[in-house]
Amino acid sequence: MGCGAREVAGAVRALADVVVAHRNELVRLDREIGDGDHGENLSRGFLAAAEKVALAEPTTPGAVLKLVATTLISTVGGAAGPLYGTALLRAATALGEVAELSGDDVALALRAALDGVVARGKAQVGDKTMVDALSPAAAAAAGLGGAGVGEVLAAAAAAAEGGARATVPLVARKGRASYLGERSAGHMDPGARSTALLLGALARVAAG
Ligand code: ADP
Ligand code: MG
Ligand code: MG
Repeated sequence: MGCGAREVAGAVRALADVVVAHRNELVRLDREIGDGDHGENLSRGFLAAAEKVALAEPTTPGAVLKLVATTLISTVGGAAGPLYGTALLRAATALGEVAELSGDDVALALRAALDGVVARGKAQVGDKTMVDALSPAAAAAAGLGGAGVGEVLAAAAAAAEGGARATVPLVARKGRASYLGERSAGHMDPGARSTALLLGALARVAAG
């Protein structure tokens, strides 16, 4: 299967579907250590993004990601919208005018996304944020030079899943959960969970 603008646009629909399907789970996680709106925020944002992409039919993968990014930034309040928006803007810029993605392009885009989140939110690995899922995902992808898109995304999704699980015992040092101090331990970070869900959805699309 090719991986051009059409396939990437289809993947955006899969992203909206997965956050809607897991909306209540993300709300519950965010209730435990935040304000309970993460599932709502992401559902609203990715549904709006999928709609815009379907209407505008961008002609390159980068243009699709850029439209998703600007939509997330304008429709999602709170921390996650601007963070995911920045991630996708950086990924779009990294892809440039590429018409068909390779596995190496995906690895490059993941690295750029991580750098964007870190530049914007200043969180490090271990601070109990989405960085704890995105960082191992980018590292796993980078270790697979020359592999196909499906293989790269499968490795990234598995690493993100492990990274999200590893946030459970951590004490939050960034974002709303950090207000709880030690009491944030014992709960999975909602943003790390959503990152794992999003990458898992992309991996399933790529696997056909
Ligand atoms: P809000 O906390 O404003 O309600 P959300 O609930 O949508 O926003 O998103 C919360 C998630 O955002 C957290 O679980 C965490 O993963 C992520 N997050 C918050 N602050 C940061 C940060 N500075 N860097 C990276 N991720 C962050
Ligand atoms: Mg919240
Ligand atoms: Mg909020």
